[in-house]
This record gives sequence, C-alpha cells and structure tokens, in this order.
Amino acid sequence: MYKHTKSQQLKAQSEAVILGGVNSPSRSYKAVGGGAPLVMERAEGAYFYDVDGNKYIDYLAAYGPIITGHAHPRIHEAITEQSSKGILYGTGTTLEIDFAKKLKAAIPSLDRVRFVNSGTEAVMTTIRVARAYTGRNKIIKFEGCYHGHSDLVLVAAGSGPSQLGTPDSAGVPTGVAEDVITVPFNNIDDFKTAIEHFGDEIAGVLVEPIVGNFGIVEAEDGFLQAVNDIAHDNGSLVIYDEVITAFRFSYGSATNLVGVTPDLIAMGKIIGGGTPIGAYGGRLDIMEKVAPLGAAYQAGTMAGNPLSMAAGIACLEVLEKPGVYEELDRLGEKLEEGLLHLIEKYQVKATINRLVGALTIYFTDEKVKNYKQAENSDGEVFAKFFRGLISRGINIAPSKYEAWFLTTEHTDKDIEDTLQIVEEVFKNDL
Ligand code: PMP
Repeated sequence: MYKHTKSQQLKAQSEAVILGGVNSPSRSYKAVGGGAPLVMERAEGAYFYDVDGNKYIDYLAAYGPIITGHAHPRIHEAITEQSSKGILYGTGTTLEIDFAKKLKAAIPSLDRVRFVNSGTEAVMTTIRVARAYTGRNKIIKFEGCYHGHSDLVLVAAGSGPSQLGTPDSAGVPTGVAEDVITVPFNNIDDFKTAIEHFGDEIAGVLVEPIVGNFGIVEAEDGFLQAVNDIAHDNGSLVIYDEVITAFRFSYGSATNLVGVTPDLIAMGKIIGGGTPIGAYGGRLDIMEKVAPLGAAYQAGTMAGNPLSMAAGIACLEVLEKPGVYEELDRLGEKLEEGLLHLIEKYQVKATINRLVGALTIYFTDEKVKNYKQAENSDGEVFAKFFRGLISRGINIAPSKYEAWFLTTEHTDKDIEDTLQIVEEVFKNDL
C-alpha cells in the first residue's frame, strides 16, 4: 500500500498560504471525507508521480483537457518553440488565425469564433451574447450541469419547472438568480413547461449535449432535437456548453454524435492542449453582436495568447490522425467490460455510463439518466473505492460525480493493471 507522507506534510504548508490548500475546490478531498490531497511532482503519458515517489495510472486527465496524455512531445515542442519567440503579444498573430481555421474545419457551425481563457469565460460570454441578440434576460439550464463559476450559472433549481432559481453560492445576488430556470436533464415535459411559463423572457437554453458533470450521461433519443425545436419556436437561442465534450468523443463537436446543431458553442479544456483556454462561437448574425462589431462586450489581455494557440494546434494535430477515437473507444470498452465483470463477480451495487474514452462508475443499481439518479450513487462506498485506488496506484477525481478520462497514451497493459487494482479494492476495501 502506498504511503502519502509528504503529501500529508504539505497539506498544512499549503493551507497556510493557499486558501483551503487548493486552487479549485474540487481538488480538495472534502467530498470523500477529507484528508490530504495528493501532491504530484511530475506527469508523463498516462502516469503521475507524486512527491512521495509513488506512480499512478492517471484517469483524472486534469478533469478532461489532457486527452493526449501528459507532457506529450508534440505539445511540449510547440510550447517551447513558441516561448522562444515570445509568449504574449497583445496583437494579432498568424497562430490565432490558423487555430481558428482548424476549429472551423472541425466544427463547421462556427461561422466566427473568439478565444478566451477558460470555460467559465466562454460560457459566461455566450449567455451575454444570447441576451444581446434576443433582447431577453432569462436562461434555462439543466439540473446538475456545471457551467463554470460565473454568477448566472451558480444558481440552483427552484422547486419546479416554472420556478426561478436561488443562489447556489454565497455572493450571487438573488436578482441574478431570478434570471435562471433549472429543469431536469432528459425531461422534455418540464422543459416545455418552463418555456411555456416564461415564454418571451427566455434568451437562451444552456445545455451540455453530453453531460460530463454528474458523470457521463447521454441525452435520450430526441431530447436535444426537441430542446432545439421548442427553444427556436420560442425565439430563444440554444447554447451548447462543450467545455468537456468538444474533441472528447470525436474530432470536433459533440454535434457529430448527437446530430443537432445549436446556435452557439462554448469550449475549453481539450482545445488548449493543457494550457488555459476557452473559446466560443457560432452563427455569424449572432456573433456580430460582439464588440468591436456589436455592442456586447468581451475582451481579454491573455485571450488568444500564442502559447495556448500553439498548444491547441498541436493537440488537434495529434487528435485528427485517423483511428484516435476508435482506439479510445476500444480501450474504453475494455475498461468498461472489465469493470462490469468485477462488479458482477463481487456483487457490487454499481452501474457504469461510458461514451468512447470517458466513463463513470455510480454505486447505485439504477441506470443514471439525470442528476437525481446520480445523487443516489453511494458517496460512502465511492469514498472507500477512491481511497483504495489511490493507495494502490490509480488516480481518479475525488468525487462520485466525475468521469474517468482515457488518453491516447493509455495502453492495454494500463487497463489490465487497473482492473487488477480495482479487483483488490472490491475484494478488500468496500
Ligand atoms: N463548463 C463545463 C461543462 C465544465 O465542465 C467546466 C469545468 N469543469 C466549465 C464549464 C468551466 O470551465 P473552466 O474550469 O475552464 O472555467
């Protein structure tokens, strides 16, 4: 069993200078009963090495972006080459044009795009643009979906589809919450009720076309098409939050898989190859509302920075090679089947949702299609599972709601080693 002595020692040091000891709350182990989060020293390919010298097979992938594995030579080279030419210009570059062309080639609905620095910024701006375009204020979003930490999307559901939300974070004004309606994912009746009730107040509908934030949950047949049709009939825009999904399941947008095209798309994570990035774009007549052409303001000192552009291009060059997603799917299937076999063998109450190279194990016996069902996943069993894994060499996110992400660097041997460790955890720890 691994020892985490140095990570434990660093906890106090970290907490003395960094609030809560983490720069993002999801990195704390609060959701799994507390304790010292692992401190990593380096990462390469599919592996992490912590400050105690332990090696892990990594399925966190930094919460999604690291689809080509850690320290990918191509991305490393792109970043170092660019850094020797300057890392921030505050002017136009050919890199940003090349990257925008590459994104457009992969996602044809991006008539125009803008680069920002995070998924939060990308989503926040699409909402502003939808409001500017429609002259309306309210948005509809779906329960359990995370869209970053801007005020408007940190609003929890009201008690029904015709209820306004309430702030989900201290510091979010109730006035902001009054512009947000949250309805259950995969429930078209509640969505219709919300649209009927609020009608021409609804500027846009914000949706993850494949949910990544209460585990991996696909929309049921017809759900996204119905959302599009009903929203458009109502004069509202549809915004896909593809911060997780863009380039995760296929080369380009999740629209490749779901077959429905929204008006605006917000992206982040993978498109930066591991560097800070966000991007949003969509229909020309909508994007023309953005400054300097239009009156909706969005800016950024770091926006389109050369390092992120270079890393993003390099990452997409790796992903566009034939067979990449087929291989992620093959390994994902192998992992899923192995896990299901162990669930059966050890009679663990668990179910798996998987799409291509991303999966979630829920410790519940009901298939998960919405947030309420994900909530029912047993957090205490998950906490034991998580601790069993990090004590034996597998790193996943410390939350029952997150996905395991495969990278192009994971191998058959990694999956086999993983299944062996999971078997030990099922046998000894649950
Ligand atoms: N949208 C979705 C779907 C996300 O998963 C996230 C981050 N997990 C965000 C938005 C926010 O992105 P960022 O953390 O880059 O601000």
